[in-house]
Amino acid sequence: MTNGQRQKIKMLRYQGVGYGKIAKATGLSRDSVRNYCVREGLNGYATELVTEYRKVMTEEMLFVVCLNCGMKLEQNNCGRKRKYCSLSCKREWEKDHRTAYVLNCEYCGKEFKALGVGWRKYCSQECYRRDRFWREEDAAEVAQKILQFKKVNHLPVWLRDLLLSDAEE
Ligand SMILES: [Zn+2]
Ligand SMILES: [Zn+2]
Repeated sequence: MTNGQRQKIKMLRYQGVGYGKIAKATGLSRDSVRNYCVREGLNGYATELVTEYRKVMTEEMLFVVCLNCGMKLEQNNCGRKRKYCSLSCKREWEKDHRTAYVLNCEYCGKEFKALGVGWRKYCSQECYRRDRFWREEDAAEVAQKILQFKKVNHLPVWLRDLLLSDAEE
């Protein structure tokens, strides 16, 4: 396993990506990805990992080095903390990261905008959580509601597709 692969595993794990997808993205086997994650304590719940990641990023990155060029920042003790070494770095970073992508939430299907990233799947943490943990537990509840002709809010896209595809057969 190369340093680059380790780095990539960490980054993806911190974003809540599963072992299988990481294996594909890094060209490693699922087992070695999982073993590495267990060794490094990266095997917890994705939401916890994301929280941890934000903490690490804030401590190690924010206000320490320029977000754009990585140069070490000198902070003075008064006034606002600096995130960039210069105005041109600030502009460059913002240009790259303020591009708004219009995406569709994989859980509720709603359109949402994401800044700087074109691969986000969910409009919110709530939808992310629901789509991940809903599949088994709440499918029965949804089925129940459908049978009782109750309006089902936020029908997961995967479930809606499933219902529709069944209807067409
Ligand atoms: Zn800079
Ligand atoms: Zn959503």
